[in-house]
Amino acid sequence: MKERRRFLAAAGALAAASLSRSAGAASAAACRPFDAARQAAVSPDQALDLLKQGNARFVKGTMIHCDLMAQVKATAAAQAPFAAVVGCIDSRVPPELVFDQRIGDIFAARVAGNFVNTDIIGSLEFATKLAGAKLIVVLGHTECGAIKGAVDNAQLGNLTATLANIRPAVIKIKGIEGSQDSKNKKLVQAVADQNARDAAAMLLTRSEVLRELVGAGKLKIVSAMHDISNGRVTWMA
Ligand SMILES: [Zn+2]
Repeated sequence: MKERRRFLAAAGALAAASLSRSAGAASAAACRPFDAARQAAVSPDQALDLLKQGNARFVKGTMIHCDLMAQVKATAAAQAPFAAVVGCIDSRVPPELVFDQRIGDIFAARVAGNFVNTDIIGSLEFATKLAGAKLIVVLGHTECGAIKGAVDNAQLGNLTATLANIRPAVIKIKGIEGSQDSKNKKLVQAVADQNARDAAAMLLTRSEVLRELVGAGKLKIVSAMHDISNGRVTWMA
């Protein structure tokens, strides 16, 4: 009789677990925000794998659904994100969604055209050297309005100065056939690729702090491209 009760209790627990899964709730382990111990245990390569896996879930529509208010409470006293992303302000490329991450998982610096300047680099020095993130991703995207504006040398208020940060990439790209303006999709994408690569390279040339972390194997810096037509992130060499 005792055995049978135990069996029924176990079966009931299984049914409850499968019910909560079918409702889209993820396990407690999958929803535990990063803390200092988990962050310390993650290598730069593992941090990159976590983002690759997250984007794969995003593309497949198998995102992890967590109680975000529980995560807010869990991270109220401290944060220990494993990565930092420099992305564009574009409404179609929110890093947390694209990489299927949540409260306390990643730092995000966003500016039109995902370039880096003193303020962004300073923010990344904080995110890594002081707050412990193991990976920086410069995330460009297809059909970027800021890149198109820079290609066309658009002038508008303060935006002119913002787009000037992207012009070096425009000037580097030569020999693309077709019109030399933003109607040329190949040209726009070549500039977007160049701009993301340049930003990642500039982090090393302009920051001694980041250079030292990379040299010590404590940090990895990569660039990537998000395709807004399918949600997929392609990693650049
Ligand atoms: Zn953009």
